[in-house]
Amino acid sequence: MNDIAIQRLHVIQHAHKYSVGRTSYHERRGKLLKLREYLLAHVDEACLATDQDLGKPRSETIIGEILVLINEIQYAVKHLKVWMGPHRQPTGLVALGTSSHIQYEAKGQVLIMSPWNYPINLALKPLISAIAAGCVAIIKPSELTPASSSFVGKLVADLFEEQEVAVVTGDVSVSEKLLELPFDHIFFTGSTQVGKIVMKAASAHLSSVTLELGGKSPSIVDASCDLPTTARLICWGKFFNAGQTCIAPDYIIVHESIHRAFLKEMEKAIHHMYPNSTFTSEPREFSRIVNRKHFDRLTGYIADARAKGGQVTVGGSWDEKQLSISPTLIDQAKDTMLLMQEEIFGPILPVLTYRNEEEVLAMIRAKDKPLALYIHAKNREFIDTMLKGTSSGNALVNELLMQFSSPNTPFGGVNQSGIGKANGFFGFKEFSNAKGVMKRRYGSLSFLYPPISPRLSRL
Ligand code: NAD
Repeated sequence: MNDIAIQRLHVIQHAHKYSVGRTSYHERRGKLLKLREYLLAHVDEACLATDQDLGKPRSETIIGEILVLINEIQYAVKHLKVWMGPHRQPTGLVALGTSSHIQYEAKGQVLIMSPWNYPINLALKPLISAIAAGCVAIIKPSELTPASSSFVGKLVADLFEEQEVAVVTGDVSVSEKLLELPFDHIFFTGSTQVGKIVMKAASAHLSSVTLELGGKSPSIVDASCDLPTTARLICWGKFFNAGQTCIAPDYIIVHESIHRAFLKEMEKAIHHMYPNSTFTSEPREFSRIVNRKHFDRLTGYIADARAKGGQVTVGGSWDEKQLSISPTLIDQAKDTMLLMQEEIFGPILPVLTYRNEEEVLAMIRAKDKPLALYIHAKNREFIDTMLKGTSSGNALVNELLMQFSSPNTPFGGVNQSGIGKANGFFGFKEFSNAKGVMKRRYGSLSFLYPPISPRLSRL
């Protein structure tokens, strides 16, 4: 879309935002249900698109893209009436004679920018919150997954008038054009690096932002954990979507006393979950890497780790033609390796060890605050020390990834891993202005008007 078309779209959505903001609960509910029906009726097209873009197994598209959206819609539909309020507030002594409430009003015109790794889900999940809040929206999906972006484009064109919701596709120059425009809110999902660009652009108009970013999310494996269960859980959470998940465990810190046993259990779990070659299996079991640039980055990590003393205990092989890398476990990882300095975002899992609580806390605090912190332990004191001693967007104990698909739980990062929260009511609030409304019912505060009584001045 060229500059003039983008500006035209912005102008017509701007003119329409107040009428969408005034829509009733029934109207918004109707739109959400239409979206749900459409998704359920077009599962095959969605699977085809993500297969073309990422070689995603059908099961992963259904679980990771479609079901998460259906669940989010169901939850929004169930609670929307209450969210739309009014939310009564108690009245304090200073405001005696008034009643107060919070009215969540639509922020208005919003921009949703999404990444490539869950290209349908991450474009539409914020849209669910935006519709619930009564906003008009432009969605800019990733240019790296064109089939999925055109699926999202067709869905939006089939369901909405462009003055209400529209999809704008294109490369970074299109994102830059969009970011020059005054939006009431920008909901960005992507890298920390681009998140900073978005926040800077938003500051020119004082647009509010939600930044759902990335980073290195550690999994701490304590000696008190149930080892086979933990290994299976980590194997699933890490290698789903070939590790191209913002909240996948990025690296493992395992207690030295169970280090060897952990590696063995991980090897067992990987062979159990992926018994066939991840390059050739039919039907496909394992996603490929999104493009050549990311493939080279990831294989470069393995080469760099090997050169610096890392031990590849599982995997470490790839198929260049298919852009596929097998599930890879790298023991003896060190901070000097590239894979411990950057977000991995692929099927490579480095393993480090710790001796005591102070050491593991120091390792985590030395890095940016993670999007998620995972603790695998039964020892309650250990769990408590980890929870209280660290800061992260989400923290999960003996579980992985589920924070994203649980509408009751605020999902998001903190500082370098993000600003603001998604999911359920938390997502609705990101697209709403919490307007404090006060109504005087009787009396007045005339004793505050000049001339002030001498008795009050003497206080
Ligand atoms: P990205 O930041 O490169 O791109 C995201 C979006 O920004 C895309 O729509 C892209 O077109 C646009 N963009 C890219 N460069 C830009 C620029 N210079 N100026 C303006 N816009 C630009 O991210 P990605 O590679 O698509 O996705 C991977 C990253 O996203 C990882 O860091 C991952 O952790 C993160 N992520 C976070 C979440 C979350 O919910 N927190 C979810 C998925 C992915």
